[in-house]
Amino acid sequence: MIVLMISLMQYALTYELDVNTFSNYLDVQNRHLHLEWLLNMDKKYINATSTYKFQVIGRSINKITLDIYKLNIYSTYLQNGLSLQHTIDYPYADSDQGQRLNIQLDKTYYKGQYIELSIKYSIDSRSRSISFMTKEQTSTKTMPYLFSQCEDANCRALAPLQDTPSVKQTYTATVIFKDTEAADVFMSADESKEEFQVLYRPQDQAGFTWKYKYFIQKVPIPSYLIAIVAGNIKKVPTSTGGRTFLVSEPDKIQAYTDELREMEKFMQAIEQYIGPYTWGTYTLVIQPPSFPIGGMENPLLTFANPTIMTGTGSGLDVTIHEMAHSWFGNTITCVNWANMWINEGFTVFLERKASLFHYNISDDIKLNAIIGNTSMYQDMLGFGLDSNFSSLHPDTTGLNPDDSFSKIPYEKGYQFLTYLESIVGEVDFQQMLRAYLVQYKYQSIDQQEFQNFLLRYLYEQGVDDYSTKRYKILENWNKWVYSPGLPPVILDFSTVKLTEAYDYTQSYINADGKQPTKWEDYINFLHSQKQVFLEDLFKQAQNNLLKLNVIEQIDKDLKLTEENDFELKFRWFRAILTAGDKTRLKQISDFLGSVGRGKMVYPVYRALNLLDHDFAVQIFKTHEAFYHPIAKNNIKNILGLKEISIQ
Ligand SMILES: [Zn+2]
Repeated sequence: MIVLMISLMQYALTYELDVNTFSNYLDVQNRHLHLEWLLNMDKKYINATSTYKFQVIGRSINKITLDIYKLNIYSTYLQNGLSLQHTIDYPYADSDQGQRLNIQLDKTYYKGQYIELSIKYSIDSRSRSISFMTKEQTSTKTMPYLFSQCEDANCRALAPLQDTPSVKQTYTATVIFKDTEAADVFMSADESKEEFQVLYRPQDQAGFTWKYKYFIQKVPIPSYLIAIVAGNIKKVPTSTGGRTFLVSEPDKIQAYTDELREMEKFMQAIEQYIGPYTWGTYTLVIQPPSFPIGGMENPLLTFANPTIMTGTGSGLDVTIHEMAHSWFGNTITCVNWANMWINEGFTVFLERKASLFHYNISDDIKLNAIIGNTSMYQDMLGFGLDSNFSSLHPDTTGLNPDDSFSKIPYEKGYQFLTYLESIVGEVDFQQMLRAYLVQYKYQSIDQQEFQNFLLRYLYEQGVDDYSTKRYKILENWNKWVYSPGLPPVILDFSTVKLTEAYDYTQSYINADGKQPTKWEDYINFLHSQKQVFLEDLFKQAQNNLLKLNVIEQIDKDLKLTEENDFELKFRWFRAILTAGDKTRLKQISDFLGSVGRGKMVYPVYRALNLLDHDFAVQIFKTHEAFYHPIAKNNIKNILGLKEISIQ
């Protein structure tokens, strides 16, 4: 106990603790993970062995505890074959955070010593991180499909792990799969030229052959960045430059490649602001429609939602965002999920800098900040303006950190950094960020460390008016980070394009079911302006000012119910449901069954639930099998269907 307290104190002196892991990561940390996975995609399970190289960092240990979530654990043993005892318990009554795997070691190990051990286990269809899809759920309908999604704390459903962003490890993997179930497999790692020793080689049978792929991730990464995708997929280069690639099902690959032809240029725009990309190649996977989020920045293998492919390039800001994570999130990582803005706020900041370099439309950046601010405010209202989930430092003790997920770390984080930049000056702030990346490369840090670095950097650089700048930086820092609700300083993102969008809404409201004279202005709006207009319609609906005859006229003019750009379509459906329109429920049901991206599905379910709870539940039941487990969980929360299960 005393030993634990000392090590806790040593760690606490530097960084915040992670309250969402059951692992004893303050005493022992994994340095390397090897996975051997045998995929049974049709039968929806994976036979697995994970091997670890732990290093003792506390004074001594005789036990290792790891996070798991609905994994079947068969055995734990040392590399010399000696079997180890293990138990599983439930530190919290519900299983939202999963279980704790306690491995009793054969003896006491002391600071600096390594412990190499293996765990045999399996993953089945109850997994929260792996989505096992049938071939009918894919686009080409020839093979089943599988993909993982681990952020926030879902990699514990992939393997027994220290499921905390504060621990980084390298990893290797051997993936064994049937040639009839997957054309190819990719992981968030390079393909290894070296073949690893395989523990279990299954026999080929009539009708299929087992294939082997080997992966290596040489850069230490947090567990939540481990990722896999398998199915009828193919990898192709996207553009000149030789470092950007695309993975998708073959039927869509040409259209996607065409739309992503500027990927190399996006990368160059980011590099122009922040410095060179250091991870080697960059591959974007366009996932099936049930992928629950816009994108996931798995290193060397970003996953993206097909809704970003609109045919017009309007959804590609997600691509720039995920690329920007290569610097913020993947190179420097938050130490726990309370500090998620250390990943997301910085990434949005870099994304918007790069977008400005690439597109050179400053109004678009401002409008995106306004749209982001609106989404953030809606999330805050959902949590309550005085809830700490509405702050940049949510307390997720005893909870699944996914429950606190919102736009707040993205947009409040972005606004905070923009505010700091306004104090420091653009050039000095850019140079500071470059130095910050060098200082904390491959480390995990908290917001206090960022503050320490920022002040130290400015002091050491001898910037003008250091004392005044220091005062201004510290003046509101704690309010920005810890106070719930809107930021302590309101930034001005106004532009004439914003006024145009608001005037456009008003022209429809005033026309009261007739066609306004300038209705065609919409066609030449920026994509962000169209979103502002639809957000404004939603606001009008909330204030009972959007009448059904106005909805009819807008739809007649702009064909929004038939819109293929889901970024616009979901906002339209949310607005009309909030206005009480029940005439398009069939199209709304079709929409909810064709897209699984939370950002688009949750607001529509929320609006539908308020309008007609029973119908919302009925639609959810119809499409339940289509959704990823993360989305399913969140929709159940929205509809009040969440059950508590121990198993
Ligand atoms: Zn992000």
